[in-house]
Amino acid sequence: MSGTIERVFSGRWIAGPSIADAVREAKRIQSYQIVPIVNYLGEAYKEKKSVERTIRIYMKLIDTLKRNRLEFNISLKPSQLGVLIDKGYCSANYSKVVRYARRAGIFVWLDMEESSIVDDTIALYKKEIGNGGVGICIQSYLKRSAGDITSITKLDGAVIRLVKGAYSAGTDTAYNDRDKVTANYYRLMLQLFKNGKKFTIATHDAKIISRALALNKRYKRDVTFAMLRGIRNDYLIKLAKSGHKTTMYLPFGEEWISYSYRRLREAGHLSLIIRSLLEPSAEGL
Ligand SMILES: Cc1cc2nc3c(=O)[nH]c(=O)nc-3n(C[C@H](O)[C@H](O)[C@H](O)COP(=O)(O)OP(=O)(O)OC[C@H]3O[C@@H](n4cnc5c(N)ncnc54)[C@H](O)[C@@H]3O)c2cc1C
Repeated sequence: MSGTIERVFSGRWIAGPSIADAVREAKRIQSYQIVPIVNYLGEAYKEKKSVERTIRIYMKLIDTLKRNRLEFNISLKPSQLGVLIDKGYCSANYSKVVRYARRAGIFVWLDMEESSIVDDTIALYKKEIGNGGVGICIQSYLKRSAGDITSITKLDGAVIRLVKGAYSAGTDTAYNDRDKVTANYYRLMLQLFKNGKKFTIATHDAKIISRALALNKRYKRDVTFAMLRGIRNDYLIKLAKSGHKTTMYLPFGEEWISYSYRRLREAGHLSLIIRSLLEPSAEGL
């Protein structure tokens, strides 16, 4: 894959390298009544310098978006806060960003990464859940997720974002077959409708979204629909226009390669990749 092709894709999925790019795209997303979830790209840090830079950028981002009177969430990766360096250090960093965001009235998501750090990620989340304003991602490719949802939804203030999962793991811990991952998504979604109060259905899968809309007629929960920028913008705009709560994941930053490879892998077959490349982004997003 040449660098040029990667850049064409990353332009579709990523706001651009700077905070100014994130602000510009966040404004555009918000003009469709969709709340942006802004993520500063970067992961798997093994030195503190990168972690500390990340924290400074998140704080600057919060100040800048607030100054622009934008409604937005942020989403953090444990491995960009130092979980691979030291768990205590990561926990202190997470709390520092959460406290800063909370004072500004900003909701903070925790992304879920590799299966080896799921326990650490859930422990981070549980530490801050009592004070509100935080949410966590749970992945349906992991066999443990039903248990994780049970333990999280018992807690006051629990907010879960359900995804299929952008990583892979051995068959002892994960479903590797796409149909099984989807089947588990349906099971976990039903569990959320039955036991959760507030959650996000984060997928581009139209069948899952239709099912969620039907379930919500019965359960009447506080449900938000979320998509990644640049995959099915027009569909999310349609959901927003029909009065549903919607959010769009908006990454920005220089470190676009890992994120773009995950999206390319998901596009799956060549026709989707070519279609993504040739179609203009929906309604200018
Ligand atoms: C808001 C949000 C936050 C997320 N956060 C996390 C996280 O913290 N951790 C994590 O592991 N994963 C996260 N993900 C990614 C998620 O796990 C999936 O990898 C991703 O959403 C693709 O799965 P899908 O549910 O859309 O279903 P899929 O079965 O992959 O896709 C459904 C349909 O959507 C379309 N589509 C999907 N991807 C593409 C693409 N790249 N290009 C073109 N068309 C495509 C296709 O039409 C496809 O048939 C997040 C996703 C969203 C929407």
